[in-house]
Amino acid sequence: MQGNWLLRKGALSFTILNLLIAIAYAIGVRLSHEFATLPATVASVWFPSGMTLALVYLLGDRVILGIICGSTLALVPALLKMQPPISGFSLILILIACACGNVLQPVVANYLIKKFARHKDIFSHVSTVVLYIMAVVFAPTISALFGVTSLCITGLIPWTSYGLSWMTWWLASALPHLIFTPTILLWQNISYKDIQHKVGEIGLGLSLFLCVSWIAFVSGYPLAYFFLPILIWVVFRHGSFFASLLVSIVSLIAILATAKNHGLYIPNEPNASLLLLQSFMAVFSLTSLILSAVIDEKNAAQLSLKQAMENLESQVMERTMELQHSEYLLKQANLELEKLVNVDGLTQVGNRRCFDERMQIEWDRLCRDSQPLSLILFDIDYFKHYNDCYGHQMGDDCLTAIAQTVKHALARPADVIARYGGEEFVVILPNTNAKGAFMVAEKIRLEVTNLDIPHQKSDISDIVTISLGVASVLPNSMQEPAILIKQADIALYQAKQQGRNRSIVFLE
Ligand code: GH3
Ligand code: MG
Ligand code: MG
Repeated sequence: MQGNWLLRKGALSFTILNLLIAIAYAIGVRLSHEFATLPATVASVWFPSGMTLALVYLLGDRVILGIICGSTLALVPALLKMQPPISGFSLILILIACACGNVLQPVVANYLIKKFARHKDIFSHVSTVVLYIMAVVFAPTISALFGVTSLCITGLIPWTSYGLSWMTWWLASALPHLIFTPTILLWQNISYKDIQHKVGEIGLGLSLFLCVSWIAFVSGYPLAYFFLPILIWVVFRHGSFFASLLVSIVSLIAILATAKNHGLYIPNEPNASLLLLQSFMAVFSLTSLILSAVIDEKNAAQLSLKQAMENLESQVMERTMELQHSEYLLKQANLELEKLVNVDGLTQVGNRRCFDERMQIEWDRLCRDSQPLSLILFDIDYFKHYNDCYGHQMGDDCLTAIAQTVKHALARPADVIARYGGEEFVVILPNTNAKGAFMVAEKIRLEVTNLDIPHQKSDISDIVTISLGVASVLPNSMQEPAILIKQADIALYQAKQQGRNRSIVFLE
């Protein structure tokens, strides 16, 4: 059911389309005769040609029937009116030849354009415009061949005027492809928003060239070359559609005026007048088509250059941001690495490497400043027993808790705690004398005691305690920092000896 309905709908739209085309074609033929330039019937342009190529280009083979019907519909009355009357055979021969010619012309032109055009937008590229011109100049040779040959065979025109008739037919059929077809095809490209913005300018242009048209084609002053600057201005300012529209309108005025015996081309002999009018329109339309394509290509190149620049800019920005991010990540990684190199993995205070480095720095600095440097070396009492009793994991936790407590107990930013090895820690106290260092040592000892970590297996207490050895010197460049470590170690040994859980200052 649905299929049937669609089929019927398709058939109906096909019929209506072809009917409309046939009517338009017949009207076009009528107008072509109406505005024939030469006395009798020789048309300067064959209007329907402009329409048929546009239709075949846009709608394809669907329109062929309409073209055949239109061609036949328009020719029959004219042929029947002929005096003396023509035979039925002649009538049918001419009708068939004209129908074939009128169909083949747009079909061949369309085939050539679509087969060889490298761009879809044919009027925006010089190469496709040249191809278009070649195709629409070639295709009418077929219709001229069919039409003029049939007229000669049937005796309507003598064979002696075959060449001239063929030429006139060909020119009249080719010109509408150059003048009117581009306007129809470019119609779909116009932006109504653009027109709104340019209404004033378009109005001015229109009035200007109507004036020139009047002067040239009504008053007959030889000022047709004035169209050229207007055309160039329109191409530059408003693009190919308006240029093509201008060409169409000017050509229409020229045809109309010349047909009504006005204007530039009238003083000539009829054949020359027709040729002059046709060559005027040809030059005008070719200039418009090629110039428009050049401008379009220039604009497209500018646009793609601009886009390329923008792309490049955004790519550079993207890369810069990526680089900045990588730099940031690298800095973070370096910081992390530095930390890993200098920090003890278990207790998170400085490691032995950190201690050695800081010790040397402070030693050198205090040598120059002649300021005292103190060192506290402390060791957890009976820690082996602690491990044995509570296990290594608890031992690790105890080490960490003590290290962190001491770290937070240090008051000055320059004070440094580091793990010296095993369960021994060292505290560097720059600009501190023995008395101050002893006070710090006692503070540390009390803080550790305050942690109140149970230690059942300690021989001196039931909580974890530490023993501290304190040493202090006025560094000088003749000595090495190792001396201070040695003294602190001796003091620590004494603290252990004297019963542990105490601070002892090294005395010479
Ligand atoms: P004291 O210092 O009071 O004379 O006795 P001690 O038992 O503390 O002395 P010793 O130097 O004999 O023992 C140190 C112990 O510390 C040995 C080891 O089991 C423990 N120890 C050293 N480093 C670590 C560590 O990183 N984690 C744990 N859990 N224990 C450690
Ligand atoms: Mg020890
Ligand atoms: Mg110990």
